[in-house]
Amino acid sequence: MGNDLTEMQKKSSRVNGLLSLVMLGFSIAAVIGNRGGTGIVWLCICSVFVLFDLLIITGILNQYKQMWLVLRAVELIAVYILVFFNDFLMIQVTGAFLILLLFWQFIFSFDYGDNITRALTVGICSVPGIIILIVSILFKNADLMKVFDSFILVACAIILGVFICNLGIDELGKLERKLFAQCRMVESVNEINEELKEHQEKVKRANEELGIQKIKLEAAYNRINSVNTEMNLQNEILKAITSVIEIEKLLDIMTKSLKQELSLNCCAIILYKNPPELDDDICMVQSELATQEEDYLLQKISDGCLKKYLVKKEGFADNEVEVGRYCFLPQRQEGSLLILPLMREGRMVGGFLGVHDQLGFFTENRVFFDTIMSQFLVVLDNAEMYAKMQHMATHDGLTGLHNRGDLNVSLERFLNNAEENGMPLSLALMDIDHFKNVNDTYGHLFGDLVIRSVANQARGVAKKYGGFAARYGGEEFVVAFPGKTVEECTRYVEEIRRGIGGLSLEYEGVLVVIHVSVGVTGYPECCLDKNQILKHADAAMYFSKEHGRNRVTVDSEEILSQVGLMAEGIK
Ligand code: GH3
Ligand code: MG
Ligand code: MG
Repeated sequence: MGNDLTEMQKKSSRVNGLLSLVMLGFSIAAVIGNRGGTGIVWLCICSVFVLFDLLIITGILNQYKQMWLVLRAVELIAVYILVFFNDFLMIQVTGAFLILLLFWQFIFSFDYGDNITRALTVGICSVPGIIILIVSILFKNADLMKVFDSFILVACAIILGVFICNLGIDELGKLERKLFAQCRMVESVNEINEELKEHQEKVKRANEELGIQKIKLEAAYNRINSVNTEMNLQNEILKAITSVIEIEKLLDIMTKSLKQELSLNCCAIILYKNPPELDDDICMVQSELATQEEDYLLQKISDGCLKKYLVKKEGFADNEVEVGRYCFLPQRQEGSLLILPLMREGRMVGGFLGVHDQLGFFTENRVFFDTIMSQFLVVLDNAEMYAKMQHMATHDGLTGLHNRGDLNVSLERFLNNAEENGMPLSLALMDIDHFKNVNDTYGHLFGDLVIRSVANQARGVAKKYGGFAARYGGEEFVVAFPGKTVEECTRYVEEIRRGIGGLSLEYEGVLVVIHVSVGVTGYPECCLDKNQILKHADAAMYFSKEHGRNRVTVDSEEILSQVGLMAEGIK
């Protein structure tokens, strides 16, 4: 758009073209009339002017504003020369108007900044010229006309000069302003760069901070996840262990769950019995070990190899287990190990052993183990309470042996088992001889002591040979040996009888010797009817009483027939 012709240039070109056409006419006339002496040259020049204006009017040269100015300047000089050397008045007058028009076009083509300055310039430069022109036309004075033409030419030159100077100054100013603006721009770019650098630093620091926060968040997230998993696991284990009340089953579920859920290589729990002479410690091991290695570990734990670690209340953890460091573990075992005491009212009642193949396994989960162990202890309390109640319901208070009710239940089970599996069941009924005398002579308390001592003998031997000892009533006891023959049972009972006979029971310095009479029978060896087994044993025992006491009698047809009336009752 900057190079496009102005509207004024376009409009004036029409007038210009018209005047050039008139000039062309006069040139033709001058050529025909051979006036003015300019000849055909002017005809050609005027034709070019007309053509030029035609091109402008049709819009073909619309985009050549600079070229328009140059051509107009050429036209101005050419017309000046034409009228200066032509004496034909009409050409001179038309030329003078053309010069005046060209002059105005010049002025209006330049950028004067405002219209008043432009109008003043036009007025100051035009008025004297026009006066000269009017006077020269009125007096038909060609010389005056030439003065006018020269005046206009000079004015054009001055205006062009001033314009070029202004243009130069303007350009210089523009350049200065540009330079200044560029300097300012460079400064502000520098400032922006500095700010950007600061921001970059800040962003870098923020990024670093974010990185640290991210790592912390990830760690927290992982911890939350593992705590969540631990809590779920805790719930699962709790659910599983609260559903059982038998201690052995409880230990089994606890060790299995822990081993499975935590992928432990080995998990063991031992419960120490207190007092130890009454019952055995209970130890449960779940592991990935070979049977032999597991048996070895079980034996070692039962032998008390964990006790030296269990004295530490906070437990013992080794997260970098070296091969061969612990005698109870296989020689190739590496990884992590945790030993925790089970504490009840400040007293160590057992322990937990966990082994994992992974190094550093027992670091962050210690709280979990402490929690699960204390929960296990609560469940264990209940189980033990239940076991105590069970024990009270099935055992005799004075001797600790199974009571009559439990004997009946157990005997039925033994007999059914024997019947189903074709295994023998032998049984002995035992009665303290002349016990009434003991009571009468030494008192009931001493009598109780005697009963307890006899019971202990029976329990010891029963336990030794896998038997079952019960207090049948008063001073009578039953010892049953599932899977044992009558012959074996007789040997065991003889051992009991001899043991009782050898008891050193003293009453106020007096040695009191105790004897028992025993009757032995067996299903199906002696007694084919399992419901009659106790009666058979009783008959045999009665035989012992009848035949000198302190002896063992084995049930047989002969014995039964000799027992007489009682045997009659049995049959
Ligand atoms: P035998 O040799 O014929 O068996 O004679 P015995 O005196 O042992 O038999 P008897 O049945 O006459 O006496 C049993 C006594 O045992 C009677 C009873 O007072 C006593 N007795 C039963 N239960 C207990 C007990 O728990 N403590 C004490 N001290 N005595 C008991
Ligand atoms: Mg009796
Ligand atoms: Mg008796």
